[in-house]
Amino acid sequence: MARRFRAAGLRVAVQQFGVAGRGRSRNVIGTLDTPADCLRIVMAHTDSARGAPGANDNASGLGVVAALAGRLRAISPGCDVWLVATGAEERLYTGSPDHLGALALARRARARGGARRLQWALSLDEVGRDRPFWLRSPTGAPRAGVEGALLRAGRRARVPISWVRDEGTGNSDHREFELLGLPGLKLGVGAGGEPCRHTACDRPERLDPTSLRLARRLVEAALSRTRPARPGARESITAPRGSGRAPTG
Ligand SMILES: [Zn+2]
Repeated sequence: MARRFRAAGLRVAVQQFGVAGRGRSRNVIGTLDTPADCLRIVMAHTDSARGAPGANDNASGLGVVAALAGRLRAISPGCDVWLVATGAEERLYTGSPDHLGALALARRARARGGARRLQWALSLDEVGRDRPFWLRSPTGAPRAGVEGALLRAGRRARVPISWVRDEGTGNSDHREFELLGLPGLKLGVGAGGEPCRHTACDRPERLDPTSLRLARRLVEAALSRTRPARPGARESITAPRGSGRAPTG
C-alpha cells in the first residue's frame, strides 16, 4: 500500500502502535494536500482472522483504497484526503475491545485539528459483494454532512446505498472515530451479510468486480468537489428498520 500511495504521488507516513500481547502493528497513511482546510479519511483494514483468506474481509476494502490512490489527483478532491490501510482491526485476534489501528489513527486526526477539519472518516469493510451496500454509523439519525454526504454521492454516482444504524457502537474502524467525537461511518455488506466472514470460504472467487467498481465510484463521488449541503437540509432516507444482525467486519 505504501508503494501504491507513493506511486500516486501521495505523502506516505507509517504510524506504528503496540498491540498488547501481540507485538506491533501499523497504519500506512497516504496524504493528498489541497488548498482546502477540511479533511476526509478513507480507510480499510489489512488484517483478517486466522485461517481466513480475507478476500471480502477485507482485501475488498483495501483494493478500493489502492484503486482510489491512483485516481485521487484526477478527482480533484474538495478537501485534504488521507487514504489509510489500517492494522489490527480484528478484535477476535487482538483481544482488544477497540479497533487498535483506527484508535491510533483517530487520535492522530484529532491531534491534527480533526475536531475542526474532519468531515468524515469512512471505513470500507466488505465491499466485494452483496449490493446494495449498507452505510452504517452509530448516530441516531443521518447527519447532513456525514451520512448525507455519502448518500448524496450515491445518488450522483448512481450507486444504491441504504443507511442502517449500527448495533451499539459499531463493528469496524469508524467506531473509534465516533468514540472520540469525530464523524465516522462504514460502507460494507448489505442485507445478505457475509456468511464467510472470518472463515476459510472468504475467497477471492466470491468477489464481484461490479461491487468493487461501484464502491470506488461512490467514494470518488464523495471525495470530489461539490457544493456544500444547505444548512439544516434534511436527508430523505429510506432505511431498513431494526437490522439486529450479527456484528460485521
Ligand atoms: Zn472487517
